[in-house]
Amino acid sequence: MRKKLVAGNWKMHGNLQFNASLLDGLISGLSGLQCEVVVCVPYPYMAQVSQKLSGTGIRVGAQNVSEYQQGAFTGEVSASMLGEFGCDYVLVGHSERRTLFGETDEVVAVKCKNVLQYGMRPVLCVGETLAERESGKTDEVVARQVDAVLSVIGVKEFEKVVVAYEPVWAIGTGVTATPRQAQEVHAAIRAQVAVQDMVVAAGLTILYGGSVKPQTAAELFGQPDIDGGLIGGAALVVDDFLAICHAAN
Ligand code: PEP
Repeated sequence: MRKKLVAGNWKMHGNLQFNASLLDGLISGLSGLQCEVVVCVPYPYMAQVSQKLSGTGIRVGAQNVSEYQQGAFTGEVSASMLGEFGCDYVLVGHSERRTLFGETDEVVAVKCKNVLQYGMRPVLCVGETLAERESGKTDEVVARQVDAVLSVIGVKEFEKVVVAYEPVWAIGTGVTATPRQAQEVHAAIRAQVAVQDMVVAAGLTILYGGSVKPQTAAELFGQPDIDGGLIGGAALVVDDFLAICHAAN
């Protein structure tokens, strides 16, 4: 039985005061929940957030990591550095990074490998654009993105990866994939992994992300292959994020 997981992606939002009040709200509203909850925060706030969440059961995540391990790479943050700040999860290959910062499937695969090497779990984001969906290429695009990582780390290591299916047309747009659309892609991802290892596929956590709101969360999370959500905008609103976590619970 897979445990549900809800990850909040704060993107480039927050400040010390806002974070403290958001976290206070989460800590008091989430006690006793069975599902795993993670907040993926901007790098400078990792120390603040991990200190505040220590002992609460709420996990800390980053939103990116370097493809390099160390050296003359000005502005980069390595997986080993994240590990030192109590980071448990790292978003890898978010569509904003693929589109705005030119991250290729190959770079995403190396980043996943680095995250695993330091004992953290990558949240591998995959998903098609609207044009790709409309031309019937959804399965092909998502399979290519998953395969790029599978072929670098191998199926046994893939057990520790969390996959987040995030259709690009649903991110930050207010348009959510229907539960049926999302379930179809989630089932295809699980089937793709099952070809290599049925046990890994059965245990694989696959999140849905893209304009999830309290009103849409329960039906999405009720689908057989949807194991929780990656939440952007709604993760910045205490009551919305709490309602989504409770829906997963
Ligand atoms: C995201 O950024 O990963 C995301 C899903 O954003 P939103 O929920 O705002 O669509």
